[in-house]
Amino acid sequence: RRVLLTGANGFIGQHILAFFLDAGHSVRSVVRSQAKADQLAKTFSEFASSSQLDFSIVPDMTSPGAFDQALESEPPFEWVVHTASPFNYSKVTSNHDFLDPAVKGTTEILQAIKRNAPSVKRLVLTSSMAAVIDFAAPKSTHPAKVYTEADWNPTSWETALVTENKNLAYQASKKYAEKAAWDFVAANPDGFDLAVINPPMVFGPLYDAAQFSSPAELNQSTSNIYNALLNPALSADSPMPPTGLHLYVDVRDVARAHLLAAATPAAGGKRFIACGGQLSFQRIANLLRASLPALSGRIPRGTPEEATMPEGSFEASSELARTVLGLDFRSAEDTIGDLATQLVDIESRG
Ligand code: NDP
Repeated sequence: RRVLLTGANGFIGQHILAFFLDAGHSVRSVVRSQAKADQLAKTFSEFASSSQLDFSIVPDMTSPGAFDQALESEPPFEWVVHTASPFNYSKVTSNHDFLDPAVKGTTEILQAIKRNAPSVKRLVLTSSMAAVIDFAAPKSTHPAKVYTEADWNPTSWETALVTENKNLAYQASKKYAEKAAWDFVAANPDGFDLAVINPPMVFGPLYDAAQFSSPAELNQSTSNIYNALLNPALSADSPMPPTGLHLYVDVRDVARAHLLAAATPAAGGKRFIACGGQLSFQRIANLLRASLPALSGRIPRGTPEEATMPEGSFEASSELARTVLGLDFRSAEDTIGDLATQLVDIESRG
């Protein structure tokens, strides 16, 4: 199949690209600059040198008609995978920096497919558990709340615009981008259909760690681990930082979910929670120490035997992804173990 992938150079985007290329699909990767296209062409050189991988540069996806040219293709596109959305807090200075690209980028791609690419059968959208969880709900309830695809984050647009809590602005950006996509397909029932992936924190190896020359270049979720648990200013006696969102998924599993969501006919019209389980910072620290014994002096020790989340901490059900997509999940040992040595290598270059 011919596939358009936005955000192809991102942490998750590169793994998605790899899954689609390895499955034999022909992918046009959308990135913001020629330098990013060149980097991807290097990483995926065997595919770039054949006709299986090509590029389109869209410097500003919020501009009207941003994706029109990218969607012109012969053979025509059948699937579009839209992952591009701001998540890196270090690159964002206002709530608008989260909200506008998330929502307008999504509405631009929806309208451009309708206008320019009637051949497209399915849009797969990368949303988030941020669009699902009610982060203001009481933390400890018995039995623990289990989030499903029926749940939506209740944050209002008005709050998202003015809140000083950047997390709330990001969470709302994902909610309103996803809502815009569902509203669009409801209003255009004869066009392409929609499948949505809702991951919690995405951890695991970088697809090509050689691209990074210092930890400052890491994506948001990977830098959360590095900054909180591995940076050189820490010691074993540093306090264990509070776990942010205590649900995770391996980046390879979430990437595979995108391929399955495109290729599985029954996935149309559904959102899929893709969650590997609960994962506390304490457990991540334990796993880092096991993978990097030479660095155990600087990884916060905390209380190693208390690695599970307190009873009552909310959970998420991936039952729909397991049954409809056939998705399964790697262990946290693999997820953190496969990242650990990459982080040390990157640090040694910085
Ligand atoms: P990255 O920051 O690594 O990738 C984000 C991608 O989106 C990059 O290609 C980036 O391009 C692009 N992008 C960001 N902001 C803009 C913008 N304003 N205009 C155009 N393109 C933009 O993050 P991830 O790979 O982690 O995130 C990918 C998707 O997954 C996002 O939709 C995110 O919300 C979602 N997600 C991520 C989770 C995680 O834990 N990592 C959890 C749940 C959902 P550029 O490189 O040019 O900045």
